Amino acid sequence: MQVRRAAVLGGGPGGLYAARLLKLAQPSCDVVVHEQGEPDKTFGFGVGLAAGTQRRLEAADADTLRDILAAGHRHDMTMTVGDRSVRVRNDRLIGIARTELLAVLRRHAEKAGVRIEYGARRAADELDADIVIAADGVSSATRSTGGFGEDIEVGRGLYLWCGAEFALPDAMFAPVGTEHGVFVTHAYPYSGGRSTFLIETDEETWRRAGFDRSTDATPPDASDTTSLRYLEQVFAAQLRGHSLIGNRTRWTRFRTVRCKRWSSGRVVLLGDAAHTAHFSIGSGTKLAMEDAIGLVEALAGEPDAPAAFARYEASRRPDVERMQELARRSQLWWESFPSRLHFPVERLMVAYMTRAGNVPLDRFAATSPDVVAAAAEQYANSKPPARDLVEWVLEQPLRHERAEFPRRVLPAVPDGLALTTFADVVADPWDDAGDAVVARARQARREGADGFRFTGPGDRPAVLTRLDLAERVRTEAGGLVIVDGPPSSRGDLAAGLVSGRCDLVSFSEEAA
Ligand SMILES: Cc1cc2nc3c(=O)[nH]c(=O)nc-3n(C[C@H](O)[C@H](O)[C@H](O)COP(=O)(O)OP(=O)(O)OC[C@H]3O[C@@H](n4cnc5c(N)ncnc54)[C@H](O)[C@@H]3O)c2cc1C
Repeated sequence: MQVRRAAVLGGGPGGLYAARLLKLAQPSCDVVVHEQGEPDKTFGFGVGLAAGTQRRLEAADADTLRDILAAGHRHDMTMTVGDRSVRVRNDRLIGIARTELLAVLRRHAEKAGVRIEYGARRAADELDADIVIAADGVSSATRSTGGFGEDIEVGRGLYLWCGAEFALPDAMFAPVGTEHGVFVTHAYPYSGGRSTFLIETDEETWRRAGFDRSTDATPPDASDTTSLRYLEQVFAAQLRGHSLIGNRTRWTRFRTVRCKRWSSGRVVLLGDAAHTAHFSIGSGTKLAMEDAIGLVEALAGEPDAPAAFARYEASRRPDVERMQELARRSQLWWESFPSRLHFPVERLMVAYMTRAGNVPLDRFAATSPDVVAAAAEQYANSKPPARDLVEWVLEQPLRHERAEFPRRVLPAVPDGLALTTFADVVADPWDDAGDAVVARARQARREGADGFRFTGPGDRPAVLTRLDLAERVRTEAGGLVIVDGPPSSRGDLAAGLVSGRCDLVSFSEEAA
């Protein structure tokens, strides 16, 4: 369709990028961005952009990507637990200051002929245009007042987003135990002299440290300095003598936004306004900018707005929902992270990389052979071969309290072992249903059970969730833990073994 006038609500990455791409695709269209903030004043510190995102941006708009890369800061990843660290190389991962990213996007939007009006909060229904692209962020007023069928899921854990005035050598994941509980930082450099520190904790730790009170006492536009000063002490080693700086920094629970519909009449949602995905997979900016690409393509390919919006949603929704599912698993993994601190850091890194089922064990082994080899050796007490890692993992023997197993794949339950079977289907192993399974497992252990077998549907999401539930029971109730899955899930099951989610596996057909 030929759009005569387009209004974009919100000058974040999604809105600015959509405005530029639309103006480039339809030069006669009058494109205006309405942003409530002032230029160069934004919340937040740095965001990460991975290789896959960069490829999509390159294809859509090579000029903008070139400037983003020039302003970005490449880094690898390190996980540190106590005094042990492992490092994973990542050639194309960059961090970029949100201010820099917005400055690049603004410059390119204006160069294409987009007008940007700053400093006034606007509502979608007051904007005079053929279409309104509502890119007004996670707290979108457009979404909550319109008929989009919004659903907002609030995370259990709490996090805050702050920064420091020095560049870490790598992105870093580091848990630190305190008298109140464990705090974990995900931190990454985003310029030659700055790093983002994202810090998360569980609700009990947060309350014990008094942060419920400091949060209440922090005005909406201020930073929670009580928490920042405390966290500076906690992460003193990681901060290397630097302070934590805030920018409207306060503890928050992550909100996962989902909408039944992304458009209503002439209004279409884009980016965080339509959907969010937990920050631990670093994909919010990516999704917003990819939405912009999808929307502008759909507008060019359809005769009117309803058809274009339907095409945009149909093309973007599968990708978005896949990322949201990965993000959901990642969020649950991070929220339960302190329970894994007894593992060696190499096994933790494997657990981290395979936590959402996105990175298969053998692919991770191909990119980080030293880390995976060390983790596999810790798992089996012998050196893994350079090839066929999954098969090798499954073939390792196990000596457990009362039984010995020649390999990790169980053909049948051995005589003399008392196993309790769970066929529960839970969506979230850490919610009430998961708590009930753990309570039953503990009771079974008290009554003499040697361990547990987890069985159920053979589809991949079910197997991955079963592995998570098995891990929780293994940690909290102890005993031998066996997880069933079809042969097609052998990669996920092998990753589960190396990551300490289970002790043995059983292939559904082989067990029958
Ligand atoms: C802690 C944390 C860490 C993150 N880390 C990463 C990361 O590593 N990588 C990554 O890709 N993403 C990350 N994200 C997500 C990322 O910041 C967002 O997903 C991304 O900014 C979404 O872009 P957007 O354009 O949809 O919305 P936003 O960037 O939120 O922009 C919305 C804009 O709309 C404006 N606005 C809102 N309402 C109105 C109104 N009524 N009138 C006028 N203007 C309005 C706002 O001022 C804002 O500028 C992180 C998010 C959080 C919370």
